[in-house]
Amino acid sequence: MSTDTHPTYEEQGNTNPIQYIIRDYCKKYPNDQGDQNINEEDAARPTNHKWAKDRLEAEEKRKTVVGFPTYGTCSICWNSGPAYKKCIKCGVVEYQVVNFRDYILDSQKIAELLGNNHEVAKANRLQHWLRTEAMRFRDDLFKMMLGRKHKHIEDEQERKRIITKEYRDFTAFYSEIGMKTLM
Ligand SMILES: [Zn+2]
Repeated sequence: MSTDTHPTYEEQGNTNPIQYIIRDYCKKYPNDQGDQNINEEDAARPTNHKWAKDRLEAEEKRKTVVGFPTYGTCSICWNSGPAYKKCIKCGVVEYQVVNFRDYILDSQKIAELLGNNHEVAKANRLQHWLRTEAMRFRDDLFKMMLGRKHKHIEDEQERKRIITKEYRDFTAFYSEIGMKTLM
């Protein structure tokens, strides 16, 4: 499996990974045929749908399901999907919870802001306890992703315009937690 086109977080020196324990969020819906999407209200996510200051805040409303966000972000394409499930688009890396400083970012919102795909979790998915890492938001990797995402746009000025707009909209959205717009 090649990740040649994508400098991984390890290669780029993701020097301070945060580790989480995630646990089973399997939901038993009465009429589940075995492949049912989880209900929106069963997804654990930051209550403001933007960020959570720490995992407890994300946990607050979730009494029984998880102590951890349901969704994560693919570090290659930045689609979102069930945390620690392999990205269906790239098939290389798993969706990981995204941290920025002390915050957990809402992966569903990230995909929404970028107009990216969001893979809904299945109710019957079993997630065993496991130790795993989160990915840190990094400005340079974020810009690289935008470059890849829009590389099909041939007109260079148009491509730059779109990338700059997406970059600025995104970083402005998270400016309240200290994200800088460096472009
Ligand atoms: Zn992906």
